[in-house]
Amino acid sequence: MGAGVIGLAAAYELMKAGHDVTVLEADGYGKGPSHGNAALVTSVLSFPVPAPGTIPVAAKAVLTGTGAVSVRPHVQPGYLSFLLRMALATRKSEFVKGTLAQDIMTRMVSDGYGEYLADGLKFEMHEQGSLHTFTHREAFEAGLAVFDGFDRLRDRIRVLDGPEAVHRVDPTLSPDILYGYYAPDDVQVEPASLMKALVGALVDGGVNLVEHSPVTGFRRSGDRVVSVICDKTEFPADHVVLAAGVATRELGKKLGVSVPVYSGGGYSVDVNINRAELRPRTSIITDDTHIAVTPLAWGLRVSSGMIIGQTHPKIPQSVFNGLMNDLRQAYPHVPLDDVEPGWAGLRPMSADGVPIVGHLPGYVNTFVATGHAMLGLTYAPPTARVLHALIDGVAPADYGAFSMRRFQRAAA
Ligand SMILES: Cc1cc2nc3c(=O)[nH]c(=O)nc-3n(C[C@H](O)[C@H](O)[C@H](O)COP(=O)(O)OP(=O)(O)OC[C@H]3O[C@@H](n4cnc5c(N)ncnc54)[C@H](O)[C@@H]3O)c2cc1C
Repeated sequence: MGAGVIGLAAAYELMKAGHDVTVLEADGYGKGPSHGNAALVTSVLSFPVPAPGTIPVAAKAVLTGTGAVSVRPHVQPGYLSFLLRMALATRKSEFVKGTLAQDIMTRMVSDGYGEYLADGLKFEMHEQGSLHTFTHREAFEAGLAVFDGFDRLRDRIRVLDGPEAVHRVDPTLSPDILYGYYAPDDVQVEPASLMKALVGALVDGGVNLVEHSPVTGFRRSGDRVVSVICDKTEFPADHVVLAAGVATRELGKKLGVSVPVYSGGGYSVDVNINRAELRPRTSIITDDTHIAVTPLAWGLRVSSGMIIGQTHPKIPQSVFNGLMNDLRQAYPHVPLDDVEPGWAGLRPMSADGVPIVGHLPGYVNTFVATGHAMLGLTYAPPTARVLHALIDGVAPADYGAFSMRRFQRAAA
C-alpha cells in the first residue's frame, strides 16, 4: 500500500524476487513528499531529528517562527504522547541508539541506486558528494563534535578547515562560508525520475499498479490479513505491506495497531540555471540558515523546513522569499532568477526519528515501512531489502532496531 519511494522500492525488490505484486495507491504514484525532496542520498547524515538540543530549538521556533525544527500544536488523538516520546528521544543515549540504528540501514545495502542502474533503470543520478557548510568557527567545531563516538560516520567525511579547502570543493559558494565537512561518497538521485523508472520496471514486470484507489479497509482471519479493500474492490493477499507514509497511522488504526507516525512538513524550490558551469558542484546543507541545496540536471533544488505536526503541506510566500534569500546568501554569484513555483510535502516522522520497518504487531503476514523522516530516499533500497527478507521468513541481523517492538517495549 502506497506508491511513494518506499512502496515502489519494496514492490520492485519483491517483483525481482519473483513475488506476484499489487501496488495500491490512493493518489497518483510519487505525488507525496517523495516527489520534491532534496534528492540527496547520504551515508553520513544518519542523525535522527530528535537530538540533544532539539527541544530548545523547537521552543524558540514556536515563539519566533524561525528555526531548524518547529512544532505545530493541535489536538489529534495520540499527538501529545507522540511529542512526549519524541522529547524522550532527544536524550543523548536515545540519540546514540537512533544514529547507530540508521547507520545499520546505511550499511545494509552497499550501493542501492548503483544496483538499480545496473539493472537497466534509467533515472537521474550524480556522484557529487555533499558538504555541510559553516560561517563561524564555533558552530563548525560544534558540528564536528556531533560525530564524536560515531567513528564509522566520521571516517566518511573530510574536514575542510578554512575557505580555500571549502572553495576547492565548490567555487560557486559564498566567500563567507569558511568551514565545512565533505562527504565525497554521497550522491544525488532526482526522485521523480527514479519513481518513473521504478514504475516503468514494475509495469514491464507485470506488477498490478492501481492508482487513485485509497485502501479503505481489510479483511482479517485470526492473525492474518487475507484481503485489502479499496472501496468496493477486494484484493486477496498472502502478504501485506503498509507503506503509506504519514497515512500509515490511519491504516494501522484500521487493524487496531497504533503506528507512532506524524508529519514533518518541508518545502523545496527548483531554480533553472542554463549554463552548467555556473551550477553548484556539490549538495550543501548550511548550518546557519538550514537550507539543503542539490545540483540537478536543470540547475538546483533548494529545500528546508521541519514542521512537526503540519497537517497540510504548504510554502507561504514569505517562506518562499526567505528560502530564496538564504539561497542567494550561499551563492551570491550564481544566476538565481529563473525560479519554478514552490513545492511542499509531509515527511513521515516516527516518534524516535528512526524508520519503522517490520511486522505489524499481532499479524504474521502484515508489515509496516514508514517513518523515514528526512531520509526516505536514502533508505528506500535497504528498507525494501528488509521487507523482502521478512516476507521470505528470514529476519535480517540487527533488524530489531527498526521493528515496531521498540515502541511497545517503551510503553510497557
Ligand atoms: C523537503 C523535503 C526534503 C527531503 N529531502 C530528502 C533527501 O534529500 N534525502 C532523503 O533521503 N529523503 C529526503 N526527504 C524525505 C523523503 O522524501 C521521505 O522520507 C519519503 O518521501 C517518504 O516516502 P514514503 O514512500 O514513506 O511516503 P510517501 O511519499 O508519503 O508515499 C506514501 C504514499 O501512500 C499513499 N497513500 C496514503 N494513504 C493511502 C491509502 N489509504 N491507500 C493507498 N495509498 C495511500 C500516498 O498517496 C503516497 O503516495 C525529504 C522530504 C522533504 C519533505
